[in-house]
Amino acid sequence: MTESIDTFAALNLPPALLSALAEVGYETPSPIQAACIPHFLAGHDLIGEAQTGTGKTAAFALPLLARLDLATKMPQALVLTPTRELAIQVAEAFQKYAHHMPGFHVLPLYGGQSMVIQLRALSRGAHVIVGTPGRIMDHLERKSLVLDRLQTLVLDEADEMLRMGFIDDVEWILEHTPAEHQTALFSATMPDPIRRIAQRYQKNPQQVKIRAATTTVAAIHQRYWQVRGADKLDALTRMLEVEQDFDAALIFVRTKTATVDIADKLGARGYEAAALNGDMTQGLREQVVERLKNGSLDIVVATDVAARGLDVPRISHVVNYDIPYDTEAYVHRIGRTGRAGRTGNAILFVAPRELRMLKAIEHATRQKIEPMTLPTKSDVADRRVAQFKQQVLDVIKAEKLDFYFEVVRQLEDESEIKPREIAAALAFLAQRERPLQPEGAGWQAETSAPARSEERPRREERPLREFSDERPRAAPREERPAFHEDKPPVRANRDEILSRRRAFSEGNLAKFRIDVGRNQGVTPKDIVGAIANEGGIEGKYIGQIHLFDDYSTVELPADLPADTIQTLKRTRIRQSPLNIRALAAGEVEEKSSYKPRPKWGAERPGDERRPAPGKWSGAKSEHDGSRPPKAPFKPGDKPKRPYAGENKFAPKHGAGKPKKY
Ligand code: AMP
Repeated sequence: MTESIDTFAALNLPPALLSALAEVGYETPSPIQAACIPHFLAGHDLIGEAQTGTGKTAAFALPLLARLDLATKMPQALVLTPTRELAIQVAEAFQKYAHHMPGFHVLPLYGGQSMVIQLRALSRGAHVIVGTPGRIMDHLERKSLVLDRLQTLVLDEADEMLRMGFIDDVEWILEHTPAEHQTALFSATMPDPIRRIAQRYQKNPQQVKIRAATTTVAAIHQRYWQVRGADKLDALTRMLEVEQDFDAALIFVRTKTATVDIADKLGARGYEAAALNGDMTQGLREQVVERLKNGSLDIVVATDVAARGLDVPRISHVVNYDIPYDTEAYVHRIGRTGRAGRTGNAILFVAPRELRMLKAIEHATRQKIEPMTLPTKSDVADRRVAQFKQQVLDVIKAEKLDFYFEVVRQLEDESEIKPREIAAALAFLAQRERPLQPEGAGWQAETSAPARSEERPRREERPLREFSDERPRAAPREERPAFHEDKPPVRANRDEILSRRRAFSEGNLAKFRIDVGRNQGVTPKDIVGAIANEGGIEGKYIGQIHLFDDYSTVELPADLPADTIQTLKRTRIRQSPLNIRALAAGEVEEKSSYKPRPKWGAERPGDERRPAPGKWSGAKSEHDGSRPPKAPFKPGDKPKRPYAGENKFAPKHGAGKPKKY
């Protein structure tokens, strides 16, 4: 790991924040946090090259909170994000870290949400505003958002904002903010337009880039599973059950709380598991390591700090349950397996938003990480049956069975039942606690190998989180109180979006006219980005787009709700309002200057509908979405089938078996 700062206290964060961090279980600052927080506190401008998963949100949220004047209820920090979902997540993170800062208010502002509610919330005041560019522009123009007291402006995921066509809006905002403030820019990549913004609007920015050392990790078989559908814990236990050559596993998570939580849950599912974290005394930690070494423990759930330098040759598997903060942490983690000349296995859980980190890891290790499929119910059943048969054969070989022969013989005589039927009944009894055919919760979400792509999760897959004044982890989602009374009702908004979704039928598209066209320099990408983001309309509901000189036409669901049309009327692209309206029947279009290319591949010839916004990357052509997604598998990618080798997790091996077998 790159950071030399090991504690949040060493970063001079105030006690209120340190208490909140202890509660959420963060053990040590991530490298991006250790590097950025001092610059923020010193008031420097900053460029952070960091992607999701590095802990970048806390890297800016913590120092911004540390510098707030709570007595002044005016926006002192503004965070611009490319999507409403990210705005909500960032606002939620602020709320979580400010748990011990009474009176603190953060306000998310994004398109598609009632203006009236936002205006009311703004008039009540907030210390931090997190918003999407279009809506922030709106509020600045109306003067409902006043930035006279602004200390810091953060551009989060700047390259995403560029990709979605919001960069002019971002520049407009930068031009309309007071001259004297700190500007921080976070971006996973640094394309030229982002660099130009940095040059134009930042003063001597400090550059923070997490070092990606290249290392060789030849002896380790690396695979990743894209988290979707199934719960991570279910996925983990399924994998452990069918893995070949299993001896012991080291599971990496991010927080101290998660080490205990997951070790407990594994214990409840019958596995011999223990936590290893920085809160434990040296003696306790040594005990855990000793038990792992001598085989009385098979699974250790650890944080990076606690597992530093761990050398236990029997660790056959390292599972990156939470993705590491940087490539160095990854290399360090997986180096805990494949020791003493043995072959090791590394499995990485990757959420769709973390695919960039996966790419960075492959780049740094100069190795492809293979996609893996989640073992299905029948994979697990096959494995359990194979283990069961082996167990029976072992017993026949090793045990004295005279007494039991006699019991079976009596049963046969008394009931005239055939030995095969008796054996089947005994097999049934033997598997009751750990059924040979797994049933119940956790087995519904069977997934196939994911398509590997750079795409952001589709809108419907991204969580729309709620806010809470109370401890966010304490109450179940449904029971949580409102964020605070000023907050826009996020739940209502989600419901609204969901009901809107239900109302759309894919085949029922109508043509709409928007007042921006070729002369305004718009591209189809800009149009989809604006409509998807501000109107909350999934890409799949956006049909053909035709560009003309002064206007464009776009196909959208015919039953678009009136409030969405109102929102889209005011939405701007390249500073011009869309003024969207349905094209009247018979209203003639001029000849379009833009010819959409056919959609991906040949499977839907003639279908020119735009792909979802998340499908684009880079802006190499007007129609990048036409690239076919990468194939989910390469030949030979298929993971090895179970029970071609030995799994020490199998019941017959005592320490390695699930307890309840
Ligand atoms: P981000 O890259 O900001 O999206 O953060 C990714 C995840 O890492 C979030 O779930 C954070 O709660 C978590 N996280 C951020 N910083 C830390 C830390 N220092 N220790 C443990 N978890 C963290």
